[in-house]
Amino acid sequence: MFVFLTIASLALQSPVADTSPFRALALPSASRVRSSSGAPGPDYWQQEASYAIRASLDTASSLLTGTETIHYVNHSPDALEFVWVQIEQNISAKNSVTYQLNQPPLHFAGGAVFDFTAKGFIGGITIDRFAAAGQELTRTEYGTMMRVELPAPLAPGAAIDFDVAWRFPVPPYGGGRMGRVGNRLYEIAQWYPRLVVYDDVNGWNPLPYIGAGEFHLEYGTYDVTLTLPAGYLVAATGTVQNPAEVWSPALRQRLEQAKTATDRVQVVTKAEATANGAHATAGTKTWHLTATNVRDFAWAASPDFRWDASGWNGVQINTFYRPNAAPWEEANRMARFTIQHFSETWRQYPWPHATTVEGLIEGMEYPMLTFVPSIAKREDQFWVLMHEFGHQWFPMIVGSDERRYPWMDEGFNTFIDYGAAEGYFKGTAYGDTVRRELLTAFQVSAIPGNEQPLITKPVEQRDLLWGAYQKPALMLTVLRDHVLGRETFDRALREYIRRWEFKHPQPADFFRTMANVSGRDLDWFWRGWIYTTARLDQAVDSVRAVGGDSTYVYLSNRGQMVLPVRLELRYADGSRETRQLPVEMWNLGDRFTARLATPKPVAGVLVDPMGSLPDVNRANNRWGRR
Ligand SMILES: [Zn+2]
Repeated sequence: MFVFLTIASLALQSPVADTSPFRALALPSASRVRSSSGAPGPDYWQQEASYAIRASLDTASSLLTGTETIHYVNHSPDALEFVWVQIEQNISAKNSVTYQLNQPPLHFAGGAVFDFTAKGFIGGITIDRFAAAGQELTRTEYGTMMRVELPAPLAPGAAIDFDVAWRFPVPPYGGGRMGRVGNRLYEIAQWYPRLVVYDDVNGWNPLPYIGAGEFHLEYGTYDVTLTLPAGYLVAATGTVQNPAEVWSPALRQRLEQAKTATDRVQVVTKAEATANGAHATAGTKTWHLTATNVRDFAWAASPDFRWDASGWNGVQINTFYRPNAAPWEEANRMARFTIQHFSETWRQYPWPHATTVEGLIEGMEYPMLTFVPSIAKREDQFWVLMHEFGHQWFPMIVGSDERRYPWMDEGFNTFIDYGAAEGYFKGTAYGDTVRRELLTAFQVSAIPGNEQPLITKPVEQRDLLWGAYQKPALMLTVLRDHVLGRETFDRALREYIRRWEFKHPQPADFFRTMANVSGRDLDWFWRGWIYTTARLDQAVDSVRAVGGDSTYVYLSNRGQMVLPVRLELRYADGSRETRQLPVEMWNLGDRFTARLATPKPVAGVLVDPMGSLPDVNRANNRWGRR
């Protein structure tokens, strides 16, 4: 390449030092486990934890008692001398980190309140037995985590079966993620002892469950039996294996009808639900459920449930709700639209049913099952119901580490949620403008000195709504609309989902996949959005006509974040034109002269004409005539 002329102009640029926004990210080395393309490598491994659980609920005392066999397969190259087990009910034990700190509920900007305590309820789990091959194992509890010593090191490739017995009182309010309403509705999760993830990056991952951080779980199969009062209807992860024992012939016939129904079939009508709830049925009933390729298992039970069902592409769509839940007649249509939308846009929903239960939980996700409250405003009802189902893709299919990286869980989900809301409310003012609330959130939440990088752990985030949900959604929207274009972005994100379905991706796997599939080095983008709190301030400084056929537009990047620049040129004759300059414009520093070949005199220039970037100072985005 032959270069002349540019030496003088280079001297005018700010010096480019190792503070350049374009320097490479210091990512962990790729390996045969995680390859440099961002895909799982040829030696990728993850542990398997499969569960056979027998549990029974005493509704008089709300005590849940269970035994379980955990089949644990060590696919790692390491011999394991001990295992770590999660016992999350201890979040409400007297000596829990959560109770010792006694922190007030987390108030989100916008009014949402997250209380991760059990609101004063003292409970916790009792482990009555933790054995292998008939031998009780030594165990040490550390709050919500427990280390269990193995009788002999578990060799690579070997498996062990743990025999566990446990019980705990079900809290009325289990940190917003599980709980009950008296003994009329149980929403049960974080309920059985389960293995901590062991991986190639951190080894064991026993980060305590203290509230804001959600879950990081191994995949496996589940075989669960639940014994409850005979009048209770159960909704759960997994497929019912004994339908003739738990459902009446009429109910089974309606379910059959629902398989191909586009509109809800009332499997249990309001009148039937009211009648069921009004009388106590003697005795108990045992439900048998199985699930494959899931990372968790949750369930709900009530004698009061109404039940609507429909079908889409082989997936049974279920909505369970109490007879007086206000807007839930539409919930099944919302659920069906959501499952179809995410399936067609990102990846087919992989399990036989998608079920949501109306109740006290503000919104929580488990494989095949979500807990959602009844909300008066239709748009908000759709959002929460849809959002919890969005989690079937992140993190139920793509099993990211929620306890460290909420942006890969809540954030990715919130991004895809906007597409679903735009689809369901298409053509309405809400549907056409809902995504713009992310820019409003930016104004409210991206406060210098208070804002924290997205990479911050959830339990250390002061503004979880912004850092875990909204900013990642804005980030991916900007990446799609301003950097990669929709087609390239969608292809790369779909490929990320395909590569990491039912696996455990790390941030670097995501970055490498997006770069490899899009063909773009995006380190600068992730640095600005994830690893720093860089702010964007694009500006037009001046404009000068040169000769009769060129105009120089002098641009500057006054913040620390770099992005491509979109310019609207307004000509003297009243016409307008939009031009996009690639991000490489900032390669040499924070000033750039755009040399535009245009015979028409330029009367005005507007940077980011649609106002779609979080530019902190729009006053300098405009030059000349409006
Ligand atoms: Zn969520």
